[in-house]
Formats: sequence, structure tokens, C-alpha cells
Amino acid sequence: MMKAIVKTSPSAGARLAQVPLPRIAPDELLVRVHSASISPADLAAWSWKGWIKGRMKLPRVLGREFCGEVVEIGELAKGFGKGDFVSAESHIFCGQCYQCRNDQRHVCSNLKILGLDLDGGLAEYARLPARCAWKHNDESLKELGALLEPFGNAVHAVQVEDVVGRSALVTGCGPQGLFAIAIAKASGAKPVIALEGSAYRRTLAKKMGADTIIDPGAKGALEKVLKAAGGRGGVDAVLEMSGEHRAIDLGLKALRPGGRFTAFGIPETNPSLDYAGGLAFKGARLYGISGREIFATWYRMENLLKSGAVDIRPAVTHTLPFADYRKAFTLITSRGKKCGKVILKP
Ligand SMILES: [Zn+2]
Repeated sequence: MMKAIVKTSPSAGARLAQVPLPRIAPDELLVRVHSASISPADLAAWSWKGWIKGRMKLPRVLGREFCGEVVEIGELAKGFGKGDFVSAESHIFCGQCYQCRNDQRHVCSNLKILGLDLDGGLAEYARLPARCAWKHNDESLKELGALLEPFGNAVHAVQVEDVVGRSALVTGCGPQGLFAIAIAKASGAKPVIALEGSAYRRTLAKKMGADTIIDPGAKGALEKVLKAAGGRGGVDAVLEMSGEHRAIDLGLKALRPGGRFTAFGIPETNPSLDYAGGLAFKGARLYGISGREIFATWYRMENLLKSGAVDIRPAVTHTLPFADYRKAFTLITSRGKKCGKVILKP
């Protein structure tokens, strides 16, 4: 048996419970979890609101963002040895569908996601298909290992198109938005404008390198964004990382004609938006971001972190033991949002 954070009932919350040790399939690895961070999907499961109710089958071990040591190897899992340190790619792709055979494994037709469709890594041990394991060459990123999954989302969201010399607006400075700020800076965006309602997270946005930080609740927030963008008729690149209706609306209004809008944040309910004025008449380019390119984004991530071009450590504000999981979830879901990324350790 092992300890795991499990969603057992269709209502708010989750439990730290004893569950059976996972049994691996021939193409899988058993990973002794070193650390796991709390993802937006874990928060949706905890709150039990919105899209998650129609998707997650219970009971389910939560956690899509984790890393750890390989302790058991299935007979068909090649290229790994006991003691290897791996981070999990949470998008379990089939390898057979049209997308998989065209380098779009992250949006596989038969996609299953760890901690959502399959048991995840907020546990002492987790099973991981070998094809979805990222092996670390050394231990230099060990303490950031759980964060590679969400960091990869942000790398993909920012770098899906060149941002050199372009103004970027990051709407929402939760962990993904904070990562996006640092990546946009390192990728040559100027200025990087951040929009965030929590005073605590505005301070983190500053630490991550945002040039201008605006409270969306303040009077004239849109005008402030347009002024900061410097008079090209709006922002070149909007990186929508929050999924909040107000941020999506402001982002579409702030987008310059001919600019690009990157949709990453997942709203609890469908927003009503100015489709014609915000996108069509502007001749905008729209990118939906789901996951990371497997494994092209992972190589980019490793380069960005190991070269020192991006430092994501200031975005990690809390590291807690599993026993404090309630405190962790309450911290992230409370109104003031006085946290960045929260990591849990078994
Ligand atoms: Zn596929």
C-alpha cells in the first residue's frame, strides 16, 4: 500500500488515503515520486466545478505534474534503468492516430491525461508509460522536475510564434503566467505587460521580470495596457493564461490588428466574446495551447533552464509535505491567492 491524494467523491475536496501500489504494464515504468506540484486540473478536481465533472471518473489519484526515480521497469520499456530520474509528460498519447503520426502527439485523438483520465503522481509511487518519461541527464533540475510539465505549457504558449521585439501581454499571473513572463523576456519580447488581480502575485510578476504590471480591477486597466504597449494599436501578442472571462475580454480588446492571441487558460464556463471585433476584423492569429510538443518543447525547456536564460524558482513559493495537502489546496483556492507554484513531497 502507499499514500496518495485521491479524489473519491463528486463534491469539493480530496483525501490523503492508503491505496494499493500501482502495478505496471509491460511498456511502463514504476516511479518513486520525489515531488509533485498542484496543477490547474488538480484545482478543478478539488473545487469540483466546471468541465472536470463531465471528464473525471472517480476514484482517481490526482497529480499530473511530477518527477521521481525509476524503481521498476516493464519488460517492453526500453532505454531506462533503475535509478534514472524522470519527469512525467502527462499527455499519454497512443502513437497510432493521425496526429501522433504527424508530430502532434500532444493533441492525440486518443489522449489520456495523468491525474485526470489515469491515476497520477500525487502519490508515493506512480506508473508512467516509458514513451512519456523524460529522462534527466544529471540532477541539476531535480528540484524543478515536477515543474517541467507546466513550464512546458508556458514555453509552448509563448514560443508558438516568434516574440522578438514584440509587446506581450500576459493575462493572469498564476504559475503558468509567471513562467510565461520569464520565457517571454528570455525570448526577446519587449515590453512584457502583466495583468493580475492579486497583489501577492503582482509582486511575483515583478520578480519574474515583467516590465509593467496592471491590476485588472483598477480604473482604466485597458487604457493602461494600450499605453504600455507603446502605440501600435494594441499588443502584438496576448498570452491568455488565466481562463478568467474578464481577462479574455480585456485581452481581445488589447490585441492589435494583425496580432496573435494565445488561448491557454481554461474557463469554468464558456465566455461570451466579441468574435468579430476581437478576432476576425483584426485579422488576428489564434493559437490554442494544450500541453507541450512531445518532445520538442522538452528540449527547449532543458536549454532554457540549464543555460540560465530562464529562472523559474521565484515562482515556487511553497514546498509542503503530503500531510499538508489541505493547507496547500486552500492556499491556492483562497481569494487573496497568496502563493505561486505549490510543490508537495511524499
Ligand atoms: Zn494518438
